[in-house]
Amino acid sequence: MLPASFSGVQCPICRATDTRVIDSRSADGGETIRRRRECTSCERRFNTFERVEEASLVVVKRSGLREPFDGEKISRGLIAASKGRPVELADFERLICGVEEEARSNGADVTSEWVGLAVLDRLRHIDEVSYLRFASVYKSFNDIADFEREARLIKLEAGLQAP
Ligand SMILES: [Zn+2]
Repeated sequence: MLPASFSGVQCPICRATDTRVIDSRSADGGETIRRRRECTSCERRFNTFERVEEASLVVVKRSGLREPFDGEKISRGLIAASKGRPVELADFERLICGVEEEARSNGADVTSEWVGLAVLDRLRHIDEVSYLRFASVYKSFNDIADFEREARLIKLEAGLQAP
């Protein structure tokens, strides 16, 4: 077992790794913890700051660029795609939460393609018109034939699901 004083923080003055915490207090309304530490070798005192950080979910774009998962951005895309449609914002919030949760359960990184398809998969069950509009942007549909093909697929599935 590690001794109670062990902190793993290196002394900034003599580089010794055995430093102990002599005081801890929260700052920034609880988001930051300031710790006063003392080096057991040189006995100099210094402060460290700890910030609470949510494990970030990274989306890897087709270009290879990595960016944090952005629910707001998806939300804007969904709102644009559902203009004039009878949809509830709460449905989109649930959709985005569901996608984020599934992404997190898949690991730390997901591709932007995966995110797009996960959104589409859920959106199809909320509103078909919004789905087609979102898909047209997402999949970069080239012409009307693409829309017709997707629309036929939806009708086919709806037909299969009908009682
Ligand atoms: Zn020291």
